[in-house]
Amino acid sequence: MKQESWLKTLLSFASPCKGKMVLSVLCAVISVIGGFVPYLGIYEVLRMFIDETAGWYSLLFWCGISLGGYLVKIAFYGISTVLSHVSAYTILEGLRLKVADRLMRAPLGEVLNKSIGSVKSTIVDRVEDVEPPLAHMIPELSSNLLLPLGVVVALFVMDWRMGLASLVTIPAALIPMISGLKTYNSQYAAYMKANNRVNSVIVEYVEGIEVVKAFNQASSSYEKFTGAVRSFKEFTMAWFESTWKSMNLCFAILPTTLLGTLPVGVALYLDGSMGPAELALCFMLALGIVTPLLKATQFLNEAKSMEYAVRDANHILQLPELKEAPKPAQLENNDIVLQDVSFSYTGNSEDEVLHHIHLAMPEGSFTALVGPSGGGKSTVARLIARFWDVTNGSIKIGGVDLRDIPLKQLADTVSFVTQDNFLFDCSLKENIRLGNPHATEEQVFAAARAAQCEDFICRLEKGWDTPAGEAGKQLSGGERQRIAIARAILKDAPIVILDEATAFTDPENEDKIQRSIMELSRGKTLLVIAHRLSTIQNADQIVVLKKGTIVDIGKQDELLQRCPLYQQLWQSHVGAKHWSVTEAKGGYAHV
Ligand code: ADP
Repeated sequence: MKQESWLKTLLSFASPCKGKMVLSVLCAVISVIGGFVPYLGIYEVLRMFIDETAGWYSLLFWCGISLGGYLVKIAFYGISTVLSHVSAYTILEGLRLKVADRLMRAPLGEVLNKSIGSVKSTIVDRVEDVEPPLAHMIPELSSNLLLPLGVVVALFVMDWRMGLASLVTIPAALIPMISGLKTYNSQYAAYMKANNRVNSVIVEYVEGIEVVKAFNQASSSYEKFTGAVRSFKEFTMAWFESTWKSMNLCFAILPTTLLGTLPVGVALYLDGSMGPAELALCFMLALGIVTPLLKATQFLNEAKSMEYAVRDANHILQLPELKEAPKPAQLENNDIVLQDVSFSYTGNSEDEVLHHIHLAMPEGSFTALVGPSGGGKSTVARLIARFWDVTNGSIKIGGVDLRDIPLKQLADTVSFVTQDNFLFDCSLKENIRLGNPHATEEQVFAAARAAQCEDFICRLEKGWDTPAGEAGKQLSGGERQRIAIARAILKDAPIVILDEATAFTDPENEDKIQRSIMELSRGKTLLVIAHRLSTIQNADQIVVLKKGTIVDIGKQDELLQRCPLYQQLWQSHVGAKHWSVTEAKGGYAHV
């Protein structure tokens, strides 16, 4: 995909603050002009002394003018900076909101495929990196470029030979600079790569510290860590070494404007073309060219870091968007039908993970998906929740293709309870209420009771008002899942998809989770991704999936009789049961 220019992307968020940006540039220009006035004042004062016409009144007048010019410079620079900061924050706000909006509109699967770390780093850190250069660029870059330009023009106006003389060293300085910058882009790209690598090694080291210690890998992991840090240092040193000669040469030559102006100025003075006051002014102006030019070069690095930050944001901005149906769909019932569904995560047919799936789940029925790991169970479930669109075929709910159901309506129709039970940073009560923001207090409590949450919530010191973060540390995985189930019970969607938990298998928890799931699925179309076959013995249909194809569909008894793969799965399950002390009793009774 062709990447849009980063500056264009950034400026596309500037429309609400265009006026302010233009005003900021104008103020910067006025500030630069104000900065010239003291030079003029000094020139006049010098001239008066040399001509011996200086008097108190004229001296005070030019001092006042100079001071006024200086104040204008400071004041307008300040206004320009304020306006540019406001503009920068408006642009960043637009960028962040657009990134968040795109994350909402992109297929959920695409978003989940990204690591939380990278999304957070893009929205928070990288976008923040854009702020300082963006806010300072208008006032500083415009004055740092305008000032030398104005000086050169002034020198040309005073005497064209002085103008030329002030420029002689610039080409000499530019030659080493250009040679140093030739490889800048590729070096910067390599620098960013090295930087990302060292960051990821650091994150891996810190996140994995538990495993590192448990397996006594401290020394080898530490070596990897120090190796990455050292190689990053070596890389940056090598880059620095490869450029320092040319850059130092450039920075040594650039400030030497007097090299040209001094001899030429003296010659012009001697032949009488220039008076002493003009000569002094020319020297002062020539000296004023360099500092702003040097400052302007600093923006080169900052512009690059902005480019990389915006590029990162662009990766999110260019995520595909799920097509949204324009109007609410009339669902005939809550049947789910998969018709000839094929799916590939990459879009290439060679990578297809589901092949020609036909499956009907009537309203109110209980369907279980079983099969070896990697067979496509989760993929089927996620496609029904439209995490992605199918590659071929169609999925219908109540006779309507998912793509014709608005996302909000689909979200209201389907509850997806997974093993990752994300708790938001609010109280446990509010976490449950997320299932239905309009629910009354009593309804929230009833859902929590049905999901077997009440006893453990009441055990907590702050009870229902315990913040999820604080509670998170005290809750077991099973208890967290029960909160997610309570949320889904409150939501009361007619279709429930459940990714059965594998991890929380202590008998008490298991029993409670099963009872809460029974409550959740009462009268609903239920689809369970089953990991323990004893929990789905009562299913209306068990779908055996292997390598993306349906091997068989039937009730438990039928499959035990005729499906070798199911027999095998059952055998290993029963085998496991013999040595597992944590197996649950019963299973989901679907009413
Ligand atoms: P199951 O739930 O039966 O274990 P999955 O539906 O998770 O199987 O996986 C089916 C296939 O799809 C596997 O080959 C897996 O590697 C692949 N897969 C699963 N999730 C993704 C994803 N987010 N991106 C790319 N491939 C995936």
